[in-house]
Amino acid sequence: MTRIAFIGLGNMGAGMCANLAKAGHTVRAFDLSKDAIAKAEASGAKGAASVADAVADAEVVVSMLPAGKHVLSVYFGPDGVAANAPKDTLFLDCSTIAVEDAREAARQAEAAGFSMVDAPVSGGTAGAEAGTLTFMCGGHDDGFARAKPLLEKMGKNIFHAGASGNGQAAKIANNMLLGISMIATSEAFNLADKLGLDAQTFFDISSTASGQCWSMTSYCPAPGPVPTSPANRDYKPGFAVAMMLKDLHLAADAARAAGADIRLGEMAETIYARLDEKGFGGLDFSGVIKDVRGEI
Ligand code: NAD
Repeated sequence: MTRIAFIGLGNMGAGMCANLAKAGHTVRAFDLSKDAIAKAEASGAKGAASVADAVADAEVVVSMLPAGKHVLSVYFGPDGVAANAPKDTLFLDCSTIAVEDAREAARQAEAAGFSMVDAPVSGGTAGAEAGTLTFMCGGHDDGFARAKPLLEKMGKNIFHAGASGNGQAAKIANNMLLGISMIATSEAFNLADKLGLDAQTFFDISSTASGQCWSMTSYCPAPGPVPTSPANRDYKPGFAVAMMLKDLHLAADAARAAGADIRLGEMAETIYARLDEKGFGGLDFSGVIKDVRGEI
């Protein structure tokens, strides 16, 4: 069994930490929120008083933090992970952060003698709780090999996407595609409706024709055809507009740096940003269909 430090026990981290403890690992858990630490203790982890305390005898550090600035300061700040973890500790950051931040973190880790893997996830809070997340990893082969058995306790599909930052690249490219396809699917349902087709009829045809995609068949933005989709619970998330917007900002920044043409990605960024500005950041992102229909 492995001695793990888990840092960042929010919506996602709580379930992931619980699954590592449930698998029999010794988990020291830390968060800025005392309530989050108490919840982690109730699910089998041992609370820590600080980052330094959590990582003092860790073999692996797992983090699930909001953004790149938190990751860089938690790992490389004065009282951070790198300054306090034993040599040879593996750093495993599962947060969604900029590709460049992930590469910078890996560079700093290596300079301090540590191996770091970026391992962002998809699957949301339900996947975090159920241990069915998809992990997209970037980093050296040996780091990935050490990370994999732990990731398997928190997820179902574990991919090694290549060098450091490639996990983040896979994540933001995938989520950009998802953001665009949800708008496209919403426009298709709205057009079909205006031309006289009900949602179920259009779904039955398009879901078996060439317009078929995940946004339609698993997460249909029109109420009715897919009973488990947020459309049937008034677009309660799920995956909120604000989260999608965060990932689209990351994709747009990365595309600018790499010189990639993402015209539709930028359009999607504008559309979700408008929803967020109107106060719908907490709506599930498939609620963009309400915007397409001119309802909000
Ligand atoms: P969250 O805000 O619920 O949790 C983040 C936690 O980090 C909070 O509990 C916060 O107190 C803690 N934290 C912040 N700074 C800290 C510090 N310096 N030291 C210790 N703890 C600190 O966020 P979340 O929804 O759990 O998301 C975490 C990451 O996972 C984000 O990068 C997000 O983009 C990504 N993600 C989220 C989802 C989702 O559905 N929520 C899905 C996929 C990926």
